Amino acid sequence: MEPKVSIQEGWKVLEDLTINADQFQQKVLEEILKQNAGTEYLKRFLEGQADKELFKKKVPITTYDGIKPYIERIVVHGEPTDILLAEPVTAITLSSGTSRGQAKMMPLTNKQLDQLTYCRSLAMSAANKFVDGLLEEGKQMQLLFVRPEIYVPSGLPARPILTSYHKSKNFEKYESSLYTSPISTILCLDSKQSLYCQFLCALLQRDEVVNIGAVFASVLFRAIRFLEDCWKELCSNIRTGRLSDWITDTGCKNALSLMLTRPNPEQADLIESACTNKSWEGIIKKLWPKAKYIDVIATGSMAQYLPILEFYCGGIPVVSMPYASSESFLGINLKPFSKPCDVSYTLVPDVAYFEFLPVKDCNEEETKEVHSDAKSDNDLTEKQNKKEEIESVELVNVKLGQCYELVITTCTGLYRYKVGDVLRVTGFHNNAPQFQFVRRQDVVLSVDVEKTSEDELLEAMTQAKLLLKPFGLVLTDYSSYADVSTVPGHYVLFWELKMEESSDLPEFNPQIIEQCCSTVEESLNYLYKNCRKGNTVGPLEIRVVEQGTFDALMDFYISKGSSVSQYKTPRCIKLEEAFKVLDSRVAQRYFSQKVPA
Ligand code: AMP
Repeated sequence: MEPKVSIQEGWKVLEDLTINADQFQQKVLEEILKQNAGTEYLKRFLEGQADKELFKKKVPITTYDGIKPYIERIVVHGEPTDILLAEPVTAITLSSGTSRGQAKMMPLTNKQLDQLTYCRSLAMSAANKFVDGLLEEGKQMQLLFVRPEIYVPSGLPARPILTSYHKSKNFEKYESSLYTSPISTILCLDSKQSLYCQFLCALLQRDEVVNIGAVFASVLFRAIRFLEDCWKELCSNIRTGRLSDWITDTGCKNALSLMLTRPNPEQADLIESACTNKSWEGIIKKLWPKAKYIDVIATGSMAQYLPILEFYCGGIPVVSMPYASSESFLGINLKPFSKPCDVSYTLVPDVAYFEFLPVKDCNEEETKEVHSDAKSDNDLTEKQNKKEEIESVELVNVKLGQCYELVITTCTGLYRYKVGDVLRVTGFHNNAPQFQFVRRQDVVLSVDVEKTSEDELLEAMTQAKLLLKPFGLVLTDYSSYADVSTVPGHYVLFWELKMEESSDLPEFNPQIIEQCCSTVEESLNYLYKNCRKGNTVGPLEIRVVEQGTFDALMDFYISKGSSVSQYKTPRCIKLEEAFKVLDSRVAQRYFSQKVPA
């Protein structure tokens, strides 16, 4: 069967999936169990039986650490992959893993790539339903990248999921013709040459472009910053019909030789007049006047890039379509043009089996880790049986307004696996619930008994950012660090600032940033403030870093194996080397001047 669903068929498929969500879920689980009950992993709990009830009773809910020993046996010791999953493994997926400081490794199969094609075509159909004649009308400017692959000791290639996808036959056959970027520019391993050439192609086809995007909002934001630096050179290439000499990648050169075929001074003049304005407000609309929406994930930790992207967009709506992870494609936004703060995702019920662990309130983890202190398999099942773990809920039984931690079972060897995301039920489409992304479960900062999660930090940052606006200052990126070298320990935030209307160096009164320190503290949780009052946590510090620091941080993570497409700024720095990248570029330091109320 072809994995791609046509644009016309897609919405009908989505209706069927959401009407019969439960049937699809039961079928997915049955198939996974039928296929994988004989794997060593499942046999420990099910003794070979493909029984759904037994599965939920006996198989423990786990995290990456639960499957890691199996992955290591496959990857490092070359043991057969059927210890974990029945389907042949074609590669190892490396997740960006920036929040853990280390990449996670997972099996990749051909079926998972087919599922990606399927879900991506469903997402495109959902977007198309709300935009007249989208695909018939033109091309999509999607900035897409790949990472070099490595070979693990067992001989399998290891790479990020999207690198596997962009290199796959599926991508070439079903998707590449939709985009302005020729496939060889996407597959170029030098991300600067790749991005430059992708921009050049998108500018040469600017009158055909119907949407603009990248996987995450942060990627598009960084790309626009790159465009600010190189638009003159791009114009000169278009004006003369000659590609810059520093583009040495053969794939890029060949692709451009077919597109940059003649001098085009008229087009170069138009681009130049849009870009010479000191303010780049609305630049996307000016450069790609027919673009109907901006296709980037701008929810969760990406929400912070919305204001700056909206500034560049000139009124073109930002649409977050997919909700996906390295582990599996997860959900689709069926109301693409809802307000960014209202975006919800409908989980696709025939790609994975979903379970939900209720979280008492959205700021608290209610479930306890199963694997952490179990010493053996028996120990594990025993603990599982008698422990106080909250029962999981199936997809169609979740309750409106309730928050849940997402647990998935996939055909790629993940059984009752916690993705690490907390979701809130916001409504239903037919019988399928829709979820708002609430946060990663990860705790990012802790110096004493208090704990701060990524979304708490984001919320506190949002409050502090309000103080910057009247002074024309924009926070372009941030990260944090728990400094326990001081007594007491304290939180350190690294901030990169810019002026809203120009690329001049930011200027400000130190008191503004000190006030920001206090505002962040005021917005943090009760326990944090209590620790501050008891002086077991010291005053919060903001270290303002030089321009380009976060680009340097991204370069550092990319040199360590993160993918450009999937890169997300780590909101808490745990790696010593990454810390040095930030700390060596600190321009000024400010401390909170008062204890929070
Ligand atoms: P990775 O496996 O490194 O690509 O990261 C996957 C994670 O990115 C998910 O588990 C989410 O935490 C986050 N993510 C992916 N899609 C979205 C989305 N649409 N909205 C918010 N967060 C997302």
